[in-house]
Amino acid sequence: MSLLNPDTMKSLDDIFADRPQVPDDKLPPLLSPNQGQCEFCKKFLPIKDMRIIDSGIIKALEPLCPECVSTFTDQARIVCIPCKNVVLWVDPHKENTGFEFKRKHVYHVEACPVCKEGTTQTKVLEKVVFFKENNIPYE
Ligand SMILES: [Zn+2]
Ligand SMILES: [Zn+2]
Repeated sequence: MSLLNPDTMKSLDDIFADRPQVPDDKLPPLLSPNQGQCEFCKKFLPIKDMRIIDSGIIKALEPLCPECVSTFTDQARIVCIPCKNVVLWVDPHKENTGFEFKRKHVYHVEACPVCKEGTTQTKVLEKVVFFKENNIPYE
């Protein structure tokens, strides 16, 4: 007999229906709107203790704890415009095309897997502009 037959599901529903409501301050940290989690060390911390990066276009939250921020001083940041979040840290480097991720610079994308499910590739806007200016086709 399958564990997931309708009767089992029904009784599971009943169990959950009988559970008392959990007060807000007893929720796990991630479920509270004021709590964030460091992307690197996975430590929970209040969102207000995270850095806000002003990219010149948007202000984006950098989901890192202060300790991890201090180890990411040289990286370029990629921020997702709809999410207003730093979504990627890139070691400074120059690509074959001549496009460069510069130290401490902030780059933008229009979507990431969080705001657009199934996103596997997203164009860095600065790169789109650079490619256009240099007549390089962007695959
Ligand atoms: Zn951390
Ligand atoms: Zn996004």
